Amino acid sequence: MKHLVLLGAGHAHVHLLSTLAAQPMASVKITLVAPFGRQLYSGMVPGFVAGHYALEDCVIPLPPLLANTCIEWLQRSAEGLDATSRTLTLDNGSTLGFDVLSVNSGPVQDRLKIEQVMPGAREHALFVRPIEAFGALWPQVVTLSQSRPLRVAVIGGGAAGIELACAVAHRLENSSVTLLTGDTPLAANYPLTVQWRIARALKSRNITVIRESACGIAAGEISLGSGAKLACDVPLLATGAQAPGWLLDSGLALDQQGFIAVDEFQRSTSHPAVFAAGDVSTRVDRQLARSGVYAVRAGPPLAKNLRAVLAGVAPTRYTPQEKTLNLLSLGDKSAVASWGNYSAQGRWVWWFKNHIDHGFIRRYGRPAS
Ligand SMILES: Cc1cc2nc3c(=O)[nH]c(=O)nc-3n(C[C@H](O)[C@H](O)[C@H](O)COP(=O)(O)OP(=O)(O)OC[C@H]3O[C@@H](n4cnc5c(N)ncnc54)[C@H](O)[C@@H]3O)c2cc1C
Repeated sequence: MKHLVLLGAGHAHVHLLSTLAAQPMASVKITLVAPFGRQLYSGMVPGFVAGHYALEDCVIPLPPLLANTCIEWLQRSAEGLDATSRTLTLDNGSTLGFDVLSVNSGPVQDRLKIEQVMPGAREHALFVRPIEAFGALWPQVVTLSQSRPLRVAVIGGGAAGIELACAVAHRLENSSVTLLTGDTPLAANYPLTVQWRIARALKSRNITVIRESACGIAAGEISLGSGAKLACDVPLLATGAQAPGWLLDSGLALDQQGFIAVDEFQRSTSHPAVFAAGDVSTRVDRQLARSGVYAVRAGPPLAKNLRAVLAGVAPTRYTPQEKTLNLLSLGDKSAVASWGNYSAQGRWVWWFKNHIDHGFIRRYGRPAS
């Protein structure tokens, strides 16, 4: 019997898990390593921050996906991998061997690295990842804001930072919100028309945008690259995510940022028994932008290819879509949509996003028995 280990219950694995009760894999023992009993869908987190959703609306519980399957679930995190000897080390020090490993454990906010460039961040900042921890801490900020107005600074001018700044401004009406975008322009990865829409939206929500980096955080203030200080009660860290540090000694081929390099079959370019999908991986031939959309779409082809290799059949190529529909919420039940250079904005875009997001939760959150 072959042993398939699924590491992390990210978007792609959630899809695979949803298929295993109806279509079990013959002669394959499956172990899932996942630290939480649910997957918190990050696409809905800004809506949770804004107060449109309860946290429970945004989660896919794992137990219903595992019911009627023979999957063994280890409620643990991986802390080490030796891809050559095919061994995972878990956070309790135990080891787990595998014949085939599939990694969908997402990116991390590496506290050690961030602390080096932003001393004080570990003690004072509210990190968005792990997203479960952020989900548990955000209600405390809301409670605090009921006793006094807060000065919130969102650090990170990418999609997550923009959505969170808008969501915070909507939720904490009596508080002030600043968005620190670092050296890069606001929403640098988006076309100009989208950048203009976002800049207008932030202005109309009284969100101050400062094109500076945070280089230190202390109680009550953030030090900026120019030497200025920004008074701040809640520094919310939404800077880009990093590759998990435990991959470094794994022996796997990694890209320049330390993410797993995979081929067109979502397979490690150095160790064919290791597959990887979602934000923990990078297609070396295309340098695909990591995004949740990609993470969701990677599920069906990953499931198909894992089934194939475990049955001794050749896997099939997966060509991700180059252009995807991007939906960015603006806090107040309005959103911006973009598709290549085309963009649109309004409440209808938010309803459309809301419909898609709920559809995702419905599809995987309540699997057919
Ligand atoms: C606030 C916010 C909003 C966002 N909104 C959007 C959006 O609207 N659209 C979009 O496309 N993208 C969005 N993103 C980006 C999106 O979160 C990521 O691209 C997406 O989550 C990546 O999916 P994934 O399946 O690779 O990993 P994840 O969703 O991070 O899932 C990884 C899973 O693995 C588990 N795990 C982690 N480490 C380990 C370990 N060591 N061992 C075992 N398990 C582990 C985690 O607990 C988690 O369950 C947003 C991000 C943020 C922070």
